[in-house]
Amino acid sequence: MSTEKQPIAFIGLGNMGGPMAANLVAAGYPVTVYDMNKEAMTALESAGAATAASASEAVTGADVVISMLPNGDIVKSLYTGKQGLLKSLKRGTLVIDSSTIAAEDARTVAQAAKAAGVRMIDAPVSGGTAAAQAGTLTFICGGEAEDVAAARPILEAMGKNIFHAGASGAGQVAKICNNMLLAIHMIGTAEALNMGVRQGLDPKVLSAIMQASSGNNWSLQVYNPYPGVMENVPASHGYQGGFMVNLMAKDLGLAQELASKSHSAIPMGALAGQLYQLHKHAGAGELDFSSILQLLEERGE
Ligand code: NAD
Repeated sequence: MSTEKQPIAFIGLGNMGGPMAANLVAAGYPVTVYDMNKEAMTALESAGAATAASASEAVTGADVVISMLPNGDIVKSLYTGKQGLLKSLKRGTLVIDSSTIAAEDARTVAQAAKAAGVRMIDAPVSGGTAAAQAGTLTFICGGEAEDVAAARPILEAMGKNIFHAGASGAGQVAKICNNMLLAIHMIGTAEALNMGVRQGLDPKVLSAIMQASSGNNWSLQVYNPYPGVMENVPASHGYQGGFMVNLMAKDLGLAQELASKSHSAIPMGALAGQLYQLHKHAGAGELDFSSILQLLEERGE
């Protein structure tokens, strides 16, 4: 069996896609990248990736196509639009979409892919930009077991946990459940810290107390929303980089849709969605989602 690594086309080199593609290059895969923002391709070019002038140029000769894009409309138009890539991919190509999009959109594109003789899985990620850089993402896959198995070695070059949640779209359902919970505990963490600091507590001391107590959670452990408590988090860098409020607001909209379709009660998720909408419309859309602390600070006396 040949040990040659499959040529990969990588589309969407933002906060997440950029470092993910760089990890594939570092693992020895021949990677061709494309992003509509040319600047996003510069760093990848220096890392050793080939660059393309369009998505269709990037996928020429690729055995595997990975996309990491902002939303479902963009993913649908990339693959199934007028000049959709499905028309030009060779039969048997494996498409891995790691964007967070509606499960229904993921199923629509996967069905179109199947009709075109292309294998497709949804493989949204959890872990944030630090995990994307470190190659320690969690991939949450939906699709045929054999396609997930074929994707596994590639995903392992970018992540450390690879789950198969179920059939096509199941990866997106699990991802949205997780992100709704993330939004809720981030807001709760910000509320607790804001209240404690207003009572004169040091946010570092309060964080250490809650981390060792029953309020401990991921936001406190690795993504503290209070500036200056942790060094390498967006809160300590003007809430730049990380996971944008716009994207969290999108995910909470997807959670609301899933809840309506499945007749599930999500009172906390719905409230989190409204708070992130308020924060987004107050002008914070491009800040990291931990900046929700600022919304609470502004609403105090
Ligand atoms: P981003 O906005 O930083 O990056 C998106 C990139 O896609 C940009 O570089 C943009 O120029 C490019 N793009 C948009 N339309 C395109 C098109 N038609 N063709 C080619 N390139 C195009 O977003 P991100 O933070 O990297 O997130 C990407 C996806 O990953 C989203 O679906 C998001 O919900 C999800 N996600 C993000 C994080 C995070 O912490 N940032 C964590 C988990 C999942």
